[in-house]
Amino acid sequence: MRWTRSLIPTLKEDPAEAEAVSHRLMVRAGLVRQLAAGIYVYLPLGQRVLDKVNAVIREEMNRIGGQEITMPVLHPAELWQQTGRWSAIGDEMFRLKDRGKREMCLGMTHEEVIGWLAAREVRSYRDLPQTWYQIQVKLRDEARPKSGVLRTREFLMKDSYTLDRDEAGLEKSYQLHKEAYCRIFERCGLAFHVVESDPGIMGGAGAHEFMAPSEAGEDEVALCDRCDYSANVELASSRPRPPEFPDWNLEEIPTPNAGTIEQVCALLRIDPALTIKSLLLVTKEGPLLALVRGDQQLHEKKLAMLVGEVRPAHRDEILMHLGAEAGSIGPVGTTLPTIADESLRTGRYVVGANKDGFHVRGVVPGTHFQPRWADIHHARSGDGCPRCDADLRIERVIEVGNIFKLGTKYSVSLKAMYLNEAGEERPIVMGSYGIGPARIAAAAIEQHHDQQGIIWPEAIAPYQLHLLPVNMRDEKMMELAEALYAQLQAERVEVLYDDRAERPGVKFKDADLLGLPLRVTIGSHALKEGVVELKVRRTGEEFRVPPSEVVSKAKSLLSNLLK
Ligand code: ATP
Ligand code: MG
Repeated sequence: MRWTRSLIPTLKEDPAEAEAVSHRLMVRAGLVRQLAAGIYVYLPLGQRVLDKVNAVIREEMNRIGGQEITMPVLHPAELWQQTGRWSAIGDEMFRLKDRGKREMCLGMTHEEVIGWLAAREVRSYRDLPQTWYQIQVKLRDEARPKSGVLRTREFLMKDSYTLDRDEAGLEKSYQLHKEAYCRIFERCGLAFHVVESDPGIMGGAGAHEFMAPSEAGEDEVALCDRCDYSANVELASSRPRPPEFPDWNLEEIPTPNAGTIEQVCALLRIDPALTIKSLLLVTKEGPLLALVRGDQQLHEKKLAMLVGEVRPAHRDEILMHLGAEAGSIGPVGTTLPTIADESLRTGRYVVGANKDGFHVRGVVPGTHFQPRWADIHHARSGDGCPRCDADLRIERVIEVGNIFKLGTKYSVSLKAMYLNEAGEERPIVMGSYGIGPARIAAAAIEQHHDQQGIIWPEAIAPYQLHLLPVNMRDEKMMELAEALYAQLQAERVEVLYDDRAERPGVKFKDADLLGLPLRVTIGSHALKEGVVELKVRRTGEEFRVPPSEVVSKAKSLLSNLLK
């Protein structure tokens, strides 16, 4: 492609609103433009990247027996009402009415449509298993669209769905997907972790996420380098290291003006791990006291999984139920239902005395009060691995893919049944699998860039080779550039030919910004010496070869880069 014939609006300056590296570079390199919050136009280079990613995804999906289909974006409400998600999902769903006042929504995922289809088209065990996939637009009114194309309200998703006779079949389909996903991310040049995740609103029996390490991510994972334990911190368990417990007797001690853990610890000169943080929360059933160690954080999601949604109690509720201000409340002597974190099973602690300005020292959980035990703390780096007790590491990541064992939740509600060998009706066992091609592209940029710009992994680069003659007014140079352009194209190398009459500095800057894997520079001096320069963007390696060898050298460098 000739630069002068294309739309590649590069920018010299960073866009003001962009924080994430990928956002900044995708705008500057002329890949995307934002139309409105979380809504993007993909310009030609951005589109080429998406096409590349999608090609990799298609190959790997077809390889595990996936069959591509296209489902509608516009869905009738009834389908979602049947599965209960019409009411379970809140503002994230775009809803609308058609001219006949029928309620509709825009597809944020396609389990409902798959269930509908399976209910009609799958009859007997002989029709199973099936793997259906599509690469198509999803619409979600995200609360916080951010970081460029990492979280948008309209985005492309490859979603696939497996239909099986039984759990064993699902397990097989699930494993195949897991392997296909690993190949997809490897081929796209991403470093990633496969971690256990919370099935959340999907329901079902198990789930994994594919997480690309990056500071721009919104998720965190807990990793153990010794035994390979890995989980989203939303459900990761951990063993907080126990402190040295002093030999305290049970006694009430004055703690005037000390309302926070830090203030109490400063006053008593003790480690926060020797205190208990008591939090009064309110569930549908009423008040509840939640306890975590003073140096830990309560994990509200874990707690919500046990007791449903919670909210912090108001000041007057705290005073009414415990008779003291928030900073002096504790579990001793109260009849409120109490949940204590597992890490409090051993040791003696300082807790609020339910009397303003006082704490109790030497409290032994399980002896001086009887809680329900549960894991309700946030895993932290340095905590013990729940499997092997080695130190856990917490890493920030971008979720690029997600796989779920759905089981029969959707097939039962949508009546997607099949007849087994004995002629009995059974619900189809389903799996659901998603990947965001734009997130892959953005995550790849987050992981592969430098001060100057993007460093594309070869498989998803918009073009493979950047042909850069430094001076378009030099006739000899032009002639050579045109000839190389023609030869490279004849050899099916994807070339971006910078035929602009720009200053060399501008062209070099843009080449680094776009980050194509290989740059072929035709410079004035080198040309006099009878050589052309090839430079690998990723390593900075340079090769000088005579014009006649450029094409073969470029091809061999590119094929090595693709390995
Ligand atoms: P997140 O927790 O980041 O909101 P999700 O769990 O809602 O993701 P899924 O519904 O499992 O995501 O979607 C599958 C894949 O689609 C994700 O792994 C991600 O790659 C992509 N994806 C999800 N939401 C968005 C979005 N708002 N913008 C871009 N890509 C997205
Ligand atoms: Mg989401």
